[in-house]
Amino acid sequence: MLVKFWGVRGSIPVPGSSTIKFGGNTSCVEVRCGRDIIIIDGGTGLRVLGLDLMKRGFCPDLKSGMGRGKVSILFSHMHWDHIQGVPFFGPAFIKGNMINIYGFKHLNVDLQQTLTGQQKLPNYPVSIYEMGGDIKFIELHEGDVIKINRASVTAVRLNHPGGSFGYKISYKRKSLIYACDYEHFDGMDRKLFDFAKGSDAIIYDAQYTSEEYYGSDRNSGRQGWGHSTWEKGIELSEAAGIKKLILFHHGHSDEDLEKIEKAAKRRFKNTIAAYEGLELRL
Ligand SMILES: [Zn+2]
Ligand SMILES: [Zn+2]
Repeated sequence: MLVKFWGVRGSIPVPGSSTIKFGGNTSCVEVRCGRDIIIIDGGTGLRVLGLDLMKRGFCPDLKSGMGRGKVSILFSHMHWDHIQGVPFFGPAFIKGNMINIYGFKHLNVDLQQTLTGQQKLPNYPVSIYEMGGDIKFIELHEGDVIKINRASVTAVRLNHPGGSFGYKISYKRKSLIYACDYEHFDGMDRKLFDFAKGSDAIIYDAQYTSEEYYGSDRNSGRQGWGHSTWEKGIELSEAAGIKKLILFHHGHSDEDLEKIEKAAKRRFKNTIAAYEGLELRL
């Protein structure tokens, strides 16, 4: 299983001089299981991944004019930092390319409605149905296990305003957990603990430091905002025997992230702060 990061930021894209090292695009991760391509979340990083896929066979075939690529996109939820890349995902504009979109009902509005909503006038001029690719929507429910050829994907509901889904991708005896956007509970979150136990790696929502999350008093913290901390990621990884912790959904500058990564590695050696272009083989 090859995991590649195309967007690692949370909440909003942040291009600029203070985010060059880790990158400024929002959540998008590519997981290659053999020839199958599974994408988790469609933040602005999805646009860049799309450009790369076009060089990898998702462009139209010279003879038929049709694309022959196939991807599965798993959405954690429909907050805009996880969907804004969709209208700019090049392979979806090519007839013949198959784009299977997986997600869940968000605040009782179904997957198709919420995702197509961002491409409706007056917000955006090109509807998802005009993009040209063969786009299918598959609604998931808690506990669902789906097969994408030899990879299996399990969905779990996580704690986040409006809800979000975490995923476990298992392939050739390796397993990857995606837990983002996610806010921990006080004490151990038994549900995520059981879900992630013994996995090879976890991509974890580490938007805040513990200091920021709890604040100096009741009014200055970020509790209830739907995100977790790198310290809680370590707690979970140690307790659940997760082999590698990948800090993700960043909310800090390069300089601060370097300090966070260093501090985290001191406590849990096998930690890495995700950056755009990072490739990990599990
Ligand atoms: Zn987010
Ligand atoms: Zn969110």
